[in-house]
Amino acid sequence: MGVINDLHGKRFGRLLVVSDSGERRDACVMWVCYCDCGKVALVRGNSLVAGLTQSCGCYLSEKSADKKNEKNGNKETEWTI
Ligand SMILES: [Zn+2]
Repeated sequence: MGVINDLHGKRFGRLLVVSDSGERRDACVMWVCYCDCGKVALVRGNSLVAGLTQSCGCYLSEKSADKKNEKNGNKETEWTI
């Protein structure tokens, strides 16, 4: 242990690692990540490597929104061009 993975410039799901925040939590590096949705998230290096965190949280909220729609039986409007 004690080895810092350099995740700089790597992509994990929707997150692109841009820099080391300088913060450490439980000896883990907190990385500054840009999410595809435009938000910035601070994510633990080990969560990224383990695949536990792949977005700023937007992915999960989208998923639960999808579930809600399924429950209500809503279908997206189809547009005829
Ligand atoms: Zn996001």
